[in-house]
Amino acid sequence: MESNRLTIIGGGLAGCEAAWQAAERGIDVTLFEMRPVVMTPAHESGLLAELVCSNSLKSELLTSAHGVLKAEISKLGSLVISAAKETRVPAGQALAVDRENFASLITQQIENHPKIKVIREEIKSIPTDRPLIIATGPLTSDALASDIAPLTGSEYLHFYDAIAPSIEADSIDRSKCFQAARYDRGNAYINCPMTRDQYFEFRDAILAAEKTPLHDFEQKAQFFEGCLPIEELASRGPKTLAFGPMKPVGIRHPKTGEKYFAVVQLRQENKEGTVYGLVGFQTRLKWPEQERVFKMIPGLENAKFVRFGQIHRNTYIDSPKLLSPTLQLRSDNQLFFAGQLTGVEGYVESAATGIIAGINASRLLEGKEPVVLPKVTMLGSLISYITTAPIKQFQPMNANFGIFPPLDVPEKKDEIKRAKMVERALAALDEWQKEL
Ligand SMILES: Cc1cc2nc3c(=O)[nH]c(=O)nc-3n(C[C@H](O)[C@H](O)[C@H](O)COP(=O)(O)OP(=O)(O)OC[C@H]3O[C@@H](n4cnc5c(N)ncnc54)[C@H](O)[C@@H]3O)c2cc1C
Repeated sequence: MESNRLTIIGGGLAGCEAAWQAAERGIDVTLFEMRPVVMTPAHESGLLAELVCSNSLKSELLTSAHGVLKAEISKLGSLVISAAKETRVPAGQALAVDRENFASLITQQIENHPKIKVIREEIKSIPTDRPLIIATGPLTSDALASDIAPLTGSEYLHFYDAIAPSIEADSIDRSKCFQAARYDRGNAYINCPMTRDQYFEFRDAILAAEKTPLHDFEQKAQFFEGCLPIEELASRGPKTLAFGPMKPVGIRHPKTGEKYFAVVQLRQENKEGTVYGLVGFQTRLKWPEQERVFKMIPGLENAKFVRFGQIHRNTYIDSPKLLSPTLQLRSDNQLFFAGQLTGVEGYVESAATGIIAGINASRLLEGKEPVVLPKVTMLGSLISYITTAPIKQFQPMNANFGIFPPLDVPEKKDEIKRAKMVERALAALDEWQKEL
């Protein structure tokens, strides 16, 4: 066990950011990366910070959630953003990169840093070294995942993740839906009712919509029967959806008592009630198709999506139960988690949590208290979400305006509201950095 050195497992986006933050603060870092000795099913090289799929880090506009997150982590000295800017390719308002140049540049910067030692080895069980950051990502190797599982109180951590889309609460047309729960047990859900004709038109649209092809390794995936994608259910029979996630049983309009042929239920996803998820609507329809088809649901004609449904292998811990907003494990404050393993979703989100884990693990070594980002920042909101989400079955989350705390003075115009939130976020981050 070493006391003056930070150990990090996983040389992906989060692990590299964490290593960089610590090393730039003068901390000695050992970074373990298993590739190319042991490969994941999706990575193709031994380069650190390899992007496994798209080459886009999404929009740079400050009117977009990812633009704000990128602006925030740039201020925090993000290695990923600076490498992305150096290796960018034309992509309009998005920050897209030449994948190989991007990963090569980060690999060089990490490997050449005098404070960082990179060891190419699969870590099969959690080492005793502290402080320790585990940032092994959605494709954490099986051996390590089996060792993390009992530590976090879970039987297993592998999921073939079927994520349902989420939307901004403000964008739901409440005149077309109503708040109620099945069998009059409270009013926890927003219910979007459908007539018989609307239902069959909707099912036809799902069947005809374009789906994202599965990766080879995902073809072999066993999905839980209780968690099937809606397009799979729709294809099983004309009324399968109406007996499944859209079943109307026990639901009636609280005022008129009216019953419906089918109902889509929306469930609150954060404490503030600003984000709602489409219950049981896990899907691998292409994103523009989701937007088009789900806007057919009564009440969602103008829905703003904060996350689209998707399916891929994912490994993540139950962060609301296990992590504090400093990204320390509640039961072992020398052990940090970062990246997609914490339940954030996306390249930039994963990198961003690596920065905070890197700062906080360094602070422990410097004898200082770990810090928590203000909730009004995009990264602070995201970390607050993953560490406090009150929902029963925690699902990964990406950066979006829906998770921001509301403004003190409500603003109706969406553009103005967002601009004020962004201004508030960047100002709060500047103040916070002064205290560091
Ligand atoms: C198939 C797939 C496609 C995705 N596509 C996108 C996309 O297009 N856009 C997007 O924004 N997000 C995407 N994501 C989600 C996510 O943003 C990325 O996976 C992101 O790379 C996560 O960053 P990370 O640092 O947490 O993990 P990673 O970048 O995966 O880094 C983890 C590292 O840990 C290493 N490792 C694993 N186990 C061990 C071990 N036991 N010992 C040592 N090293 C180990 C791995 O080799 C890897 O290098 C995708 C995820 C998957 C699985």
